[in-house]
Amino acid sequence: MTRVFNFSPGPATLPEPVLRQAAAEMLDWHGTGMSVMEMSHRGKEFISIHAEAEADLRELMGIPANYKVLFMQGGAIGENAIVPMNLIGRGGKADYVVTGDWSKKSQKEAKTFGTVNVAASGEAGKFTSIPKQSEWKLDPEAAYVHICSNETIGGVQFHWTPETGNVPLVADMSSDILSRPIDVSKYGLIYAGAQKNMGPSGLTIVIVREDLMGHALPITPSAFNYQLQAENDSMFNTPPTYAIYIVGLVLKHFKAMGGMAAIEAHNKAKAKVLYDYLDASSFYKNPVNPADRSLMNVPFKLKDDALDEAFLKGAQAKGMIQLKGHRSVGGMRASIYNAMSIEGVQALVAYMKEFEAKNG
Ligand code: PMP
Repeated sequence: MTRVFNFSPGPATLPEPVLRQAAAEMLDWHGTGMSVMEMSHRGKEFISIHAEAEADLRELMGIPANYKVLFMQGGAIGENAIVPMNLIGRGGKADYVVTGDWSKKSQKEAKTFGTVNVAASGEAGKFTSIPKQSEWKLDPEAAYVHICSNETIGGVQFHWTPETGNVPLVADMSSDILSRPIDVSKYGLIYAGAQKNMGPSGLTIVIVREDLMGHALPITPSAFNYQLQAENDSMFNTPPTYAIYIVGLVLKHFKAMGGMAAIEAHNKAKAKVLYDYLDASSFYKNPVNPADRSLMNVPFKLKDDALDEAFLKGAQAKGMIQLKGHRSVGGMRASIYNAMSIEGVQALVAYMKEFEAKNG
């Protein structure tokens, strides 16, 4: 068996030991004679899996006791509506900081549910940098301020936490959750689809400060009502049980890697290998302001777009896949989440050098 180096932005590569363990437990989880997929979500076996995943997430991220962890469905695009439905009721207005395609989508969807103010936007600069907070036009009466901590398409990432005073900060962390230590208490709500850094698609994690719940608009579907989900331990409807199980295994793996500080160091080391080479080369170019570069998603262009296809084909032949950039920006993108090894990044850079030497 040969595993590829998978640079997909998501669903993305997962830690191999996790996949092996899931395979070993597929038919008979811990002597129960059944797969996790076949278990009742209300049975004691699954309840223990669910509780352990939540406890490990709380430990890894240092989630304070006054925050609920919800395991939901609908993905981050679902949350683009679910967040305003649950939070905008406190005053009817929200601020959005637009730093790329994903936060732009969030902002657009929120308009259905209330008054949306774009407090800052990086669009004039083609989303290659994060607008400085001194330029943001925040409304002190907004129900919340929404950001996307890491723009998966453009490859820009917040390396600082905005100060929003008494207005709760809401972050779409789909593509950088669990990639570095963060101070959860600085946020009112964090949400993330699982399929990049945590596990399979189908599961959305929501971490919400308790006092923000209970203001859902009357149109909010019950399954998407944070308060109802919190009261029912995320079991108001059947949760995505297998995805929760895999995320639980991934969290144990992250703990074994040494937790968030060790993982951040690993991610920084990997990203440095790639950015150092990109900056030294005149053949490849990353357009992002160095201070705002993502450690997770690294877009780059070749000197000549006409070479893109040959680049991708050559990479594929060497077992490196999913390097094509998003259709809206073109070029290439290497997604290097926690589960991507430094060997994977080194192999990519070695191939890029070889390709440059042939075509430069
Ligand atoms: N937000 C961000 C930052 C993302 O990267 C993605 C997925 N690429 C989404 C939202 C949308 O996620 P989903 O398709 O799971 O709803």
